[in-house]
Amino acid sequence: FMMNVLVTGGAGYIGSHVVKELLKRDYLVVTLDNLSKGHRDAVTGGVFVQGDCGDSVLVGELVKQYRINAVVHLAADSLVGESMTRPDKYCRNNLSNGVEFLTALVQAGVRQFILSSTAAVYGEPEYTPIDEAHTTRPINVYGGTKLMLEQILNWYEQAFGLRYVALRYFNAAGADPEGNIGEDHDPETHLIPLIMQAALGKRDKITIYGTDYPTPDGTCLRDYIHVSDLAVAHILALQALEAGAASAVYNLGNERGHSVREVVDAVRRVTGQDFTVEEGPHREGDPAVLVASSRKIKECLNWQPRYGELEDIIRTAWAWHSSHPGGYPKNKPGR
Ligand code: UDP
Repeated sequence: FMMNVLVTGGAGYIGSHVVKELLKRDYLVVTLDNLSKGHRDAVTGGVFVQGDCGDSVLVGELVKQYRINAVVHLAADSLVGESMTRPDKYCRNNLSNGVEFLTALVQAGVRQFILSSTAAVYGEPEYTPIDEAHTTRPINVYGGTKLMLEQILNWYEQAFGLRYVALRYFNAAGADPEGNIGEDHDPETHLIPLIMQAALGKRDKITIYGTDYPTPDGTCLRDYIHVSDLAVAHILALQALEAGAASAVYNLGNERGHSVREVVDAVRRVTGQDFTVEEGPHREGDPAVLVASSRKIKECLNWQPRYGELEDIIRTAWAWHSSHPGGYPKNKPGR
């Protein structure tokens, strides 16, 4: 018995890596993505459907047609800064559409669900490393919508028997080691791809957002996790649900903080390229330190990172960026 998995947001950065790991293990994969951000060429196999996860009729049809029995839900808007100025957009796309989607799924008989969640549910850390028992007081709308979805899942579990795993990602980075999929956002806001662009000469400089944080070198510490390690965690979560495991929430990070300066230096070292780095003010909503405890997922699901070193993450990112300097081809209408 094999699971047939519907992946929303499967054309996005993390989603495309999840799809690839599922395909490696011969799952039947149906990707549902509206291509508002994703790339058709990032989906390396399975069935691709362009559409909205909030389209209940479409979702019901897909579940029936492909005998879907598990869902990985990554479709969402995910920019912290934008979420603060466009709460309406985040509440509609992440929350309203998320609830429509969940409701269509339970009506169609789906009872296994993986939610792509985020470290942003915690807000300003009260202690570090952050474990899953840490209080959840999001300080941005993005984190707020993800936390609300987690809570709704809990109610749906009680009422409808839906079992779920929520994966709270820390900083996803890197690219699949085979080199055919990677990170391509427009506009790009994430640190590692921005530095890659600078190293490729596609951007004249990068700016460090804040150098007076209470950290050893004054720049923010983040927990970078390789996107393929993240993707494998989704497989383990699906297998656990398939085996009858109870619902759970897991952090996903490498349990180590790297400063912005350390990342810049590591990119210089790995790529051999030099580029201009300037120091700028804080970016709103950025906590000084975000480092995960991933003990729970290691113990419960036997998850182990394969690319835990920052250099591995940067090397795989560089392999993709340097071989795809223009990113993915633009989506063609009608595909
Ligand atoms: N950052 C930076 N300059 C940039 C982009 C990001 O200094 O041009 C910092 C940012 O303040 C944060 C870290 O890099 O401390 C990671 O930011 P990113 O946007 O990649 O991920 P986030 O932590 O927001 O999920």
